[in-house]
Amino acid sequence: MKTLYSQLPAIDSLLRDPALQPLLLQSGTAFTTRQLRAMQQDARAHIQQHQTLPDWHLNWPQEAQRRAQQQQQSALRPVFNLTGTVLHTNLGRAQLSERAIEAVTACLRQPVTLEYALDDASRGHRDRAVSALLCELTGAEAACIVNNNAAAVLLMLAALAPGREVIVSRGELVEIGGAFRIPDVMRQAGCQLVEVGTTNRTHLKDYRAAISDNTGLLMKVHTSNYQIQGFTHAVAEAELVALAAEHQLPVITDLGSGSLIDMTAFNLPAEPMPQQLIAAGVDLVSFSGDKLLGGPQAGIIVGKQALIDQLQQHPLKRALRVDKMTLAALEATLQLYRQPETLREALPTLRLLTRPPHEILQQAERLMPALEQAYDAEFSLSIAACSSQIGSGSLPIERLPSFAITFSPRDSHGSSLDALTQRWRTLPRPVIGRIQEGKLWLDLRCLEDEAALIRTLTA
Ligand SMILES: *Cc1c(COP(=O)(O)O)cnc(C)c1O
Repeated sequence: MKTLYSQLPAIDSLLRDPALQPLLLQSGTAFTTRQLRAMQQDARAHIQQHQTLPDWHLNWPQEAQRRAQQQQQSALRPVFNLTGTVLHTNLGRAQLSERAIEAVTACLRQPVTLEYALDDASRGHRDRAVSALLCELTGAEAACIVNNNAAAVLLMLAALAPGREVIVSRGELVEIGGAFRIPDVMRQAGCQLVEVGTTNRTHLKDYRAAISDNTGLLMKVHTSNYQIQGFTHAVAEAELVALAAEHQLPVITDLGSGSLIDMTAFNLPAEPMPQQLIAAGVDLVSFSGDKLLGGPQAGIIVGKQALIDQLQQHPLKRALRVDKMTLAALEATLQLYRQPETLREALPTLRLLTRPPHEILQQAERLMPALEQAYDAEFSLSIAACSSQIGSGSLPIERLPSFAITFSPRDSHGSSLDALTQRWRTLPRPVIGRIQEGKLWLDLRCLEDEAALIRTLTA
């Protein structure tokens, strides 16, 4: 034991080792010394536990380099999203367009006119550029941008109906993942929830009966992540707007995802469009920036000027406002919508959602030979039809036909599948698939850089 401890090299001599010089140059003396101390501690603990030296004892500089590399990796690692879910919340939802990426980079390098009006050098409003675009695209009078759609809902409620009753259909009291629940948001905003109707059927007369002197507004919530089917009835926005007008009450809609384009024109399932609700007379409509819109995380509120002014002046707006990176990315994303002809190519979300299945199949066929060669010993590979999802709660029932490469363990042990997914998670650019029916599935819908995947999986 004693002799094992005495074989541990001294930090001083390690620091003089020529093999350690690259790390010293790259990371500095303080960082390298800390690294070596931590290794010494680990080595001592290893000796105490196993009565042997750790296997990296033979090459300390190499181990130090390996550990440093690991520590310097970003916690936001790029991955291959082969889960089949296009807007994957845990993987960062929408991939931004090149235009948006360039716009963000540009606004970071120089000072920008964030709240500065160039025409008269006065203080401008930070949402103004994006507001103008949103009004052009949705027909709304004004717009307000906040951190995400959850913040948008909170701000609308807190600004328009503090201490008042808000009427919502029982069938629309949604929970979105991550603790966004309509009743809880109401409470946080200081509003009193008044549920009307039943889980499956709510009628106009239910809203009418619930309106009182203390009603602040009527609210519709798009049930984006579930569907109630069968004997159902919901009140359309236009009907609700007519009822609210009789009582001079505003109607607001939390649309969740929303889409600025008609998804059916791209052979995708229909999703409500903010401009339809604005045309129906809804006072405020909110939706996410990073769901079907394909932009940065943001909450977008469009609607009537007077109500948007109320939101802009509310103290919560200051706490929920977005920074210049978000505004730059959102503006560039919205500009793409001015040219619907090129949108499919330019907007990654739409490009991935609309990939024709036969192209995905051809891609699978191109990838198979190299992958089979690398994995054939342990796994039997095949190409299988599968279905992708849009994701982030959008259109939960709908599936998009796609193709996957599947890996079945030859030893028929589930443990080797787990070992494979584990190994792929530790790759420089991790590969994330899904396990189903005793196989690992790589849905290729979101794979654009084929060569990079081959390099990663066969290295
Ligand atoms: C997704 C969603 C939200 C939350 O939006 P975030 O942008 O994730 O904050 C709120 N309401 C509905 C109906 C949604 O679909």
